[in-house]
Amino acid sequence: RDKIPHLPEIYADSNINLLLRRAKENRTVDIEEYETTGGYSALRKALNKFTPEDIIVLVEESTLRGRGGAGFPTGRKWRFVIQNPKPRYLICNADESEPGTFKDRIIIERDPHLLIEGMIISAYAIGAEKGFIYIRGEYPAGYMILENAINEAYERGYLGKNILGTDFSFDLYVYRGAGAYICGEETALIESLEGRRGHPRLKPPYPPQVGLFGRPTVVNNVETLSNIPIIVTYEQYFMHIGPAGYYGPKLFPVSGKVKKPGVYESTMDITLNELIDIAGGPIGKPKAVFSGALGVYHPDEFDTPMDYSPKGFGGTGTTIVLNEEDCIIDSLIVIANFFHHESCGKCTPCRVGTYEQFNILKKFQEGTATEKDLDLLIHLGKNIPIGSICGLGYSAPNAIMDAIRKFRDEFEAHINGKCPGGVCF
Ligand code: NAD
Ligand code: SF4
Repeated sequence: RDKIPHLPEIYADSNINLLLRRAKENRTVDIEEYETTGGYSALRKALNKFTPEDIIVLVEESTLRGRGGAGFPTGRKWRFVIQNPKPRYLICNADESEPGTFKDRIIIERDPHLLIEGMIISAYAIGAEKGFIYIRGEYPAGYMILENAINEAYERGYLGKNILGTDFSFDLYVYRGAGAYICGEETALIESLEGRRGHPRLKPPYPPQVGLFGRPTVVNNVETLSNIPIIVTYEQYFMHIGPAGYYGPKLFPVSGKVKKPGVYESTMDITLNELIDIAGGPIGKPKAVFSGALGVYHPDEFDTPMDYSPKGFGGTGTTIVLNEEDCIIDSLIVIANFFHHESCGKCTPCRVGTYEQFNILKKFQEGTATEKDLDLLIHLGKNIPIGSICGLGYSAPNAIMDAIRKFRDEFEAHINGKCPGGVCF
């Protein structure tokens, strides 16, 4: 434990105390504390009371959706995988790297057994005997904490052969990434786990059909898997947590111009306005919210709930607040630079297009852009996704296109030599 690097001070709070029940303080909960506060009782219950099919039905009924960003129904993904023969694998995607996203690290660093317990129950449900946690290289403390926690779980009989005296066996491994955002794309992650360069594969087939080493595989995010012990514990009562169809807790990483940046847990009927209030309120007058790399929201939309409905702000829940002293273009450049840097280069429209997006935005920042540059940004925004094969290329223009739709006046102002935030030129 001495070797574990210092954990960063990240404020965390919750009004429902489910995922963050043990994780509000900046320290790692060990297995003893985890057990004495009810930990691993969901696993006992799952193995003693439920068949794997019972658990899949529970997860389907829970309406749990993938918390990594795409919001795909977890039960449906599990249903797909069990239609294919064993051996099957379970992978936890802990390669959290979306700009402004730091929610999974709170679970990993502070309550690792919640994730491990969720993985053991999930593996039992889908019939997997081996599981992998793929953690981003930039989370060295998280990697060591997970290794320690997995050892603790082996020592207590929660991992390994004949878990808790049953005929279910499960081994769990941690694998460290090397700092590439693209390895969070599930097929690139699988390639990387197999020892190859992390380049995405064409989908379909999806991992539940052809995944790790060609076998049926479920890839779920840290927060998604950490919901499983809660679902097993609460059963039907889980459907009392939050709005209809979008049940369960959600983590929201909030940063930027708020008084108390941090990770907040809530139900998904919370709106952006309420989230900003919980995070201590805004600093200055809010101008926009950047939701990771996915979208840009205007204050007129701040009363929309953060759920996975077509108009909701689901995704990762990432909330970066900008105020009147910020410049939309300047902030977009950070996102564009990120995508240009992280594009794996396999598809030309993504490799070249993300670079061009960055260059054009720089022209706006320097005061040399014209109306033609705005048209070119729109052209790229429409065409990069068409020529791309993975989520990075599909979403690289999202924030820029959203900003052009909702903050066109900022682009026009820069063409006319003015920066509304007073940041550029
Ligand atoms: P996707 O919509 O293609 O797939 C979502 C999940 O559903 C995948 O696991 C996929 O295998 C599964 N799926 C979809 N259709 C299926 C089918 N017919 N059969 C079986 N399984 C099926 O999205 P994606 O490319 O996996 O993820 C994109 C999202 O990830 C974006 O929202 C992006 O913001 C987010 N993301 C998040 C982070 C982060 O740090 N949290 C990093 C990168 C990307
Ligand atoms: Fe690589 Fe971009 Fe193609 Fe994805 S879309 S495979 S990141 S080049």
